[in-house]
Amino acid sequence: MSTMTNFPEDFDRCVRFHGHVCPGLAIGYAAVKASSTLLNVAPSEDEELVCIVENNSCSVDAVQTLLGCTFGKGNLVFRDWGKQVFTFYDRQTGRAVRASLRQPASNRETIHELRKRIEAGTATDNDKRKMKELRDEFTASLISRPTEFFEVKEVTMEPPDPAQIVETAPCAICGEQTMVSRMVKKGASMICKGCAK
Ligand SMILES: [Zn+2]
Ligand SMILES: [Zn+2]
Repeated sequence: MSTMTNFPEDFDRCVRFHGHVCPGLAIGYAAVKASSTLLNVAPSEDEELVCIVENNSCSVDAVQTLLGCTFGKGNLVFRDWGKQVFTFYDRQTGRAVRASLRQPASNRETIHELRKRIEAGTATDNDKRKMKELRDEFTASLISRPTEFFEVKEVTMEPPDPAQIVETAPCAICGEQTMVSRMVKKGASMICKGCAK
């Protein structure tokens, strides 16, 4: 756990959910805060607010904590595109806002060099201290100045598919109930992906 203190209460909640303080978590926090300048991104009890995330890194945990967008409710959509981009869609108004991280850590080069040395096991204590300092600095600036790091704009999009009640059937091999749309054909019967492996 970082030695940094005095975070806003809602960032503390993100940390409790995520387990540690890191710049990634602060990126997700900043994406939500920056987007709230254009859209009412309030915690979602049901699934009025949908968030489409283009990565599955630490940042997504902040979105889940702050907005209640979760896989379980079907209002968290994952696109494996490796980008720190977050689109928020309000089902009530049909409005959507897209936030993309535009400014990486100001000391990106230095961080990159330090990380290489740390991974290679050649980092000095001083290197490690410096690395922690830079990461803490980046985290703190994301939290205090979110709009500086994100380009936020309103976009038009089709409503995301709502969570669906799905048909299930037993797998012909293991007998476990499986979503029919996820089953694969084996001869004349349908089996689960676990058994198909
Ligand atoms: Zn993390
Ligand atoms: Zn099976």
